[in-house]
Amino acid sequence: MLDPDLINDLRNVRDVLVFTGAGISAESGIPTFRDRMTGLWVHTDPMEIATPMAFRRNPQRVWDWHVHLADAVRVALPNAGHLAIAKLEQRGVKVTVITQNIDNLHQRAGSRNVVELHGNLLRLKPFIDEDAAFAVKQPPVICPLCGGHAAWDTCDPCANHADLAAIQLCSGPVPHCPCCGSLLRPDIVWFGEMLAPEAIETAWNAVESCELLISVGASLEVEPAASLPWCALDKGAWVIEVNPSPTELARYCHASIAASAADVLPGLLDQVAIGSMLDDPLNTFKKWFIAK
Ligand SMILES: [Zn+2]
Repeated sequence: MLDPDLINDLRNVRDVLVFTGAGISAESGIPTFRDRMTGLWVHTDPMEIATPMAFRRNPQRVWDWHVHLADAVRVALPNAGHLAIAKLEQRGVKVTVITQNIDNLHQRAGSRNVVELHGNLLRLKPFIDEDAAFAVKQPPVICPLCGGHAAWDTCDPCANHADLAAIQLCSGPVPHCPCCGSLLRPDIVWFGEMLAPEAIETAWNAVESCELLISVGASLEVEPAASLPWCALDKGAWVIEVNPSPTELARYCHASIAASAADVLPGLLDQVAIGSMLDDPLNTFKKWFIAK
């Protein structure tokens, strides 16, 4: 499927960046965050409910919508694409996964170096009302447990991290931080919110150092993530797109494979970094040992 010269070059790659979008999650049965959900929530527009303003107005409704999404995430399993990416890392290759997905499937597949640009649905954080924070003259007191804006009159000094960690995104009333009483929300980037600066910085550093970038199931419509493959191209890295619906990138990258991640990644990633692994002294020793 690929140019033999390209395959030859991929063998010597040592630093790989895999950039993943909604397509690879959809292959595991997870609805796209921007798409409407089924059942109860079919008439709810995600762009109206996954926002700080919606949570401020009606936290319970926003919480319940995310619980429905979390139910889909919990029953989903990593697919052959997720597993192939994790296997590449387990072979000793430097692999950075930068994902727009919030479903934890890369970690469940075994990937350890994952940058979650849009956060993680199954992790919670305090809801910080930016409007209220700007309205008061005094800087807010920060809760030592959750990092939220604390209200000490309701604070419980006996609450500890285990109490906070035990709270999950499940049906029921919106939970509060056991220390300061802040409302808790999913630790994801809602519409109208900024990406975490640390995640963006890590992503750019990975683009700078990578020799190969593979863009998987990403529509490349949302900035700044959409620029990552283009910057990798600019700085001379190999760039491959794997997407059943190729994007504009397909015309400029080194290879565009119009197929699913689960179908393509196991075979493709088996070809990557084979040569560089042979240079590794430990692998040379293992080969020698097996030969004996
Ligand atoms: Zn707190």
